[in-house]
Amino acid sequence: MINREELHRIRESHKPELEAKLLANGTAEMRDGRLVLAGDYYKKQTRVALKNSGLIDPKNIDDYIAFDGYRALEQVLSEKTQKDVIDLMTEANLRGRGGAGFPTGRKWNEAYGIQANQKYFLCNADEGDPGAYMDRNILENDPHAVIEGMAIGAYAVGASQGYIYVRAEYPVAVKMLRIAIEQAREYGLLGKNILGSGFDFDLDLRLGSGAFVCGEGTALMESIQGNRGMPRMKPPRTSHKGLWQKPTILNNVETLACVPIIFQKGAEWFRSIGTEKSPGTKVFALVGKVENAGLVEVPMGMPLNEIVNDIGGGVTNGKALKAVQTGGPSGGCIPLDLMDTPVDFESLAKIGSIVGSGGMVVMDEDTCMVDISRFFLEFTVDESCGKCTPCRLGTRRMMELLDKITEGKGTLDDLDDLEQLAKDIQKSSLCALGQTAPNPVLSTLKYFRSEYEDHILNHK
Ligand code: SF4
Repeated sequence: MINREELHRIRESHKPELEAKLLANGTAEMRDGRLVLAGDYYKKQTRVALKNSGLIDPKNIDDYIAFDGYRALEQVLSEKTQKDVIDLMTEANLRGRGGAGFPTGRKWNEAYGIQANQKYFLCNADEGDPGAYMDRNILENDPHAVIEGMAIGAYAVGASQGYIYVRAEYPVAVKMLRIAIEQAREYGLLGKNILGSGFDFDLDLRLGSGAFVCGEGTALMESIQGNRGMPRMKPPRTSHKGLWQKPTILNNVETLACVPIIFQKGAEWFRSIGTEKSPGTKVFALVGKVENAGLVEVPMGMPLNEIVNDIGGGVTNGKALKAVQTGGPSGGCIPLDLMDTPVDFESLAKIGSIVGSGGMVVMDEDTCMVDISRFFLEFTVDESCGKCTPCRLGTRRMMELLDKITEGKGTLDDLDDLEQLAKDIQKSSLCALGQTAPNPVLSTLKYFRSEYEDHILNHK
């Protein structure tokens, strides 16, 4: 168990040593007075959630502490009331990075305002979008940022127990989290009477078994309780009645990794990055037919073509860019003439896509957009939990229509049926999985309808 003086001493002694090592071995360089990862790939990025990724040893809590780790928790516990913490979060307007973009401060305030003998604070690490690995990277490289974010949130809402619901298919992330939780307990940064403040908060892991629907909040809580992961109707919201019917907050990994730095640098600093309605940064998994595939963290509002061309280096093999799919299986396909769209919650929604959790798939001129929409729909059909009819049967009917079209047996009327069915499923499904499953089909019908017609008219 260490105290505040010892935390200070670790920072003073370990930071210069660590910085010197990173500069000497070429991992990092100084930019604008800050130590950042070396290399052109990182020059146009703004690393907030990924600020420690690649710089610290995730197995060594002292590395995290050296770069101001647990400083925010220390300040919060010694200087701030629960309401202060919520007010700062509300002012920063950190919106959930898991897909919905719900304001974190408002969510915390809901649970704070409820009297209960037990509250829970959860982290959603059930990342399941094809091609997306933002959360995995944070958990593998900077697990303490998530733990610290959870401890701050738990203090704000009055929760004493937390769970990180993480995919069992992420064994390295699970291992890093286990090590980090143990170290945080040893240092007295988790458990009873954290840093002598009187605040108790402890954490455990719960492993998910690969059901995409368990990323949905109510399904995730069912799964933690040992039940089959199936969404339920809302209200009541989980901030009122969540895990074991107690007030429960669920935040995603990237959201939580942003929390400590917001407390260190302030709400105004956070809002100075990104756009007015979507402040801060977002991590994207830039994949597909792009030269520099990898994780990129950029200010919200950066135009899509800057991400793909300036950071991603453009399309592979000198091919022309055709479209970019954002938001994973729940997202939409954005055509070439909309590549200057700013990437933020509002702008993407306006053109029929979403930020989602951060998947960004680049497609070249050879890509068949009908195949792409079929690929994403097939994923959601497989992952539907089957509880409600529009999603269970409706998405299967959509697949049958798509199969008919891609086998050259479709008619132009099938396109109208496909579109109508997609809209009905969006409106009537119980949870976000079904409500968003038709998005790839609808966006490709909107922007690439001629490709569907080509399959039909030319029987291919
Ligand atoms: Fe299950 Fe799909 Fe209905 Fe969600 S929309 S409850 S995944 S059947």
